[in-house]
Amino acid sequence: MTDDVSKKISVGPSGKFDGSGLSVKKRTTKNILLATALENFYGAAEEMGLDEGLVEILSHAERAISVSLPITMDDGSIRVFEGYRVQHSTALGPAKGGLRFHPDVSLEECEALASLMTWKCSLAGIPYGGGKGGISCDPLELSSNEKERLTRTFAARIAPIVGEWEDVPAPDVNTGAPEMVWFMDTVSKLRGRFEPGIVTGKPISIWGSKGRTAATGLGVATCIKELLNAVKLDVNKSRIIIQGFGNVGSYAAKFMSEAGAKIVGISDVTGGYYAPDGIDVAKAFDHISNHPKKMLEGFSQAGLKHVSGEEILEAEADVLAPCALEGAVNASNAAKLKVKYIVEGANGPVTPEADEALLSNGIKVVPDFLANSGGVIGSYFEWVQNLAGYFWTEEEYNNRLVPIMKDNFHRVWNYAATQDVVMRRAAFLVAIKRVADAVKMRGLFL
Ligand code: GLU
Repeated sequence: MTDDVSKKISVGPSGKFDGSGLSVKKRTTKNILLATALENFYGAAEEMGLDEGLVEILSHAERAISVSLPITMDDGSIRVFEGYRVQHSTALGPAKGGLRFHPDVSLEECEALASLMTWKCSLAGIPYGGGKGGISCDPLELSSNEKERLTRTFAARIAPIVGEWEDVPAPDVNTGAPEMVWFMDTVSKLRGRFEPGIVTGKPISIWGSKGRTAATGLGVATCIKELLNAVKLDVNKSRIIIQGFGNVGSYAAKFMSEAGAKIVGISDVTGGYYAPDGIDVAKAFDHISNHPKKMLEGFSQAGLKHVSGEEILEAEADVLAPCALEGAVNASNAAKLKVKYIVEGANGPVTPEADEALLSNGIKVVPDFLANSGGVIGSYFEWVQNLAGYFWTEEEYNNRLVPIMKDNFHRVWNYAATQDVVMRRAAFLVAIKRVADAVKMRGLFL
């Protein structure tokens, strides 16, 4: 990510509201994700005429903690890792958001992502605030036993601030069902009572939910289908590129190919795989399931070209769904993109500078906190089932998820059209309003 964050950011089509008209003292930071989150918030706050006290409140996280995590490594040595949990807002309900394991995880990154969760849950209409956490580590260098010790130590250290009515973590980058079980088990043992609703994304056998694994990808695919409908592009004639073939991207590709779209490109850390006549997604899916590290490395089929990860982003298609990490579409490649639409499966995959370049090239972006909200909506379903101790079928789960995604897509699509703003700005305006109203009604503590 090379973009200059000090450059003025505008996400409205006219660039009229970039937060410069606010008289509050604006927070500044060198962390690109937090700078982007704040700029997006300030711009939308100015545009909606948000009370400046509320601008102050919502531009700060309610709680942010750092913990040190001493772990005995498999070779007997001791290493200390850094862990974080940030609760941006609990105005609408308990904080909700994932835990990521990645070398770039920092307190500021967690704050940015926690605020994105606040807006995501608000926009989705679910009863949660926003949180995010993680551990700065390289999970590829850790054995399963080391990851277990790390997760359990982290759970013990943040146990005082989590709970089904306080803060409910979930999977995020490089975490999944095993980490969630270790987390839930550790807190349950510490409290001497079973605490299933303390995390979501658990395996089906241990109070998880049928449908949760595929939920984010199903939500992304639903947004792509609704977008194609809205712009009158036949799904059966559409060509899609999915960048990132992890949990989100692989399921988005699967649902889109089942719907009749041609998936012309996919990619992961092992590079890009391009097939103008369409990738056999079921085969790619099988390939990663059988690969020891769940990667596309070695995947082949007739007519497939192995290209670089960068080339896949710049290939010909109608829709690009970046489903990997933040900053994939940035100042250096935005002008080279050949797609007409971007649907953000990852959190923050398009930088603000790229947003501007895309806007001037007429490329529409469906923003992350709308497009990937299927994951947290699915988490909400799991939590509801945990609180009730009563489980739904996968069909019930999906039949509840898809209509919510469709409604949310159209609410933002229509609002963007009536307000004459880009979808990201429209989504912010809708999401901030619901949280701001809740803060106003609840008032300050003293
Ligand atoms: N990590 C996912 C996200 O960023 C899911 C969060 C959750 O389910 O709480 O939306």
